[in-house]
Amino acid sequence: MSWLSAIRTRWIAPVLASAALALTLALPAPASAQSIIRDTEIEGIIREWSDPVFVAMGLNPEDVELLLVNDASLNAFATRGRIMGVNTGLILRTQSPNQLLGVIAHEAGHIKNRHTLRDGAQAAGAQPFWMSMALGALAIAAGAPDAGAALISSSQFFGTIGALKYMQAQEGEADVSALRALDRAGESGRGLVEFFENFRSQEVFSEARRYPYFRSHPLSSQRIEALRRPAEASAHYSSADSPERMAQHALVLAKIHGFMDHPNAVFREYPETDDSLPARYARAIAWYRDGQTDRALTAVDALMEGDPQNPYLWELRGQILFEEGRPTEAIGAHQRAVELKPDAPLLRVNLAHALLESGDADNLDAAVDQLKRAAAMENDNTMAWRLLGQAYDRQGKEGEARLASAEMYFAARNSQQATQFALRARDLLPQNSAEYRRALDIVFASGATQDDLDDLERRQQRRNNNTPEFRPVP
Ligand SMILES: [Zn+2]
Repeated sequence: MSWLSAIRTRWIAPVLASAALALTLALPAPASAQSIIRDTEIEGIIREWSDPVFVAMGLNPEDVELLLVNDASLNAFATRGRIMGVNTGLILRTQSPNQLLGVIAHEAGHIKNRHTLRDGAQAAGAQPFWMSMALGALAIAAGAPDAGAALISSSQFFGTIGALKYMQAQEGEADVSALRALDRAGESGRGLVEFFENFRSQEVFSEARRYPYFRSHPLSSQRIEALRRPAEASAHYSSADSPERMAQHALVLAKIHGFMDHPNAVFREYPETDDSLPARYARAIAWYRDGQTDRALTAVDALMEGDPQNPYLWELRGQILFEEGRPTEAIGAHQRAVELKPDAPLLRVNLAHALLESGDADNLDAAVDQLKRAAAMENDNTMAWRLLGQAYDRQGKEGEARLASAEMYFAARNSQQATQFALRARDLLPQNSAEYRRALDIVFASGATQDDLDDLERRQQRRNNNTPEFRPVP
């Protein structure tokens, strides 16, 4: 699992970084910091459950970005840009796979019906302008190596989203879409009803207990009743979660607890008397985070004895060694993870990171190869582009390094920086090479202005005249 290592974003519209920065800084200050977490195993499980429901709803699963937000509060959101965020705090409060699937189906219902989170003053149908901008800024923060990103706090985005809400009528529509899609996908709508009922009763019981999710998604007894009747009428209402899914759900919870909670809290939640797989998994992670490396490694090895082909156990072994400052030892474990799950870009990024940090120049070619494959699978993976730039720099391939930086900013929707780096790459790369043409593509796709291109001309002329190199304004 990694924090802010990368965020998947879609190119919505060329946006100047300075504009995004100004807007996000104007947002209210947040109470706590949030970030996006990436984990191949958790993402794989949630997508395996959700994608058929998205299809049943008429959504293309590839168009829906599902983000795991590292935040202990109960919340989830969806934007008109088809980005769905689910807090770890919400996932941890679901009692079954079907409850989590129900909430995801409800959020997908907002996407399907093109609903807009809004504040009171906002015109109907308008997505807040800053929202897509702020997500772009968040993406920059996820992958950017430079200081500008430090000014952009992801929590400002999440803090503000907490102040917005859907209308009651939209909640009803999203519920209806969710139930229909669940039914078509052969899933029960019971979990969704249960989840709402559970928190409704808790809110009624204690006024102090106000969950952000139910501020943005207003809940009423009427709404729950309107949801319950069609849910019960479905032929799939009584179908229970499979044992496999129950095990997956327990594993997701264990992993989130292991990575997010204080190790002592993990040891209390999963005491050593608990010999279940999720408990052993959670403890292994907590020991590693507690600095008890040998104990963590022994625990991972014991888990592997029962499941030697599990790529995520190899990934965890690699992560423990890497974070312990033993990148050379981490290489073998990450290599094995990649062999066992070759279609997972994040596992390749981990391997490349270990290869790079090993400091062995002989590993640079392999690192470049892994990063190129990762970026080809997930071309908006800013972490892959950032590391690729570092690898090329160490190889002395300046043009390729600048191009990788251009790709990173392009993926992060920072068109100004993307253009700057693409222009520098163009100057350094052999004319008419594939990389040279790609640099030009980025310049034009990023919406370079005539001024940018004139500037490029001047630089070329200065170079020809042997005058000092133009320095871009930072
Ligand atoms: Zn809702």
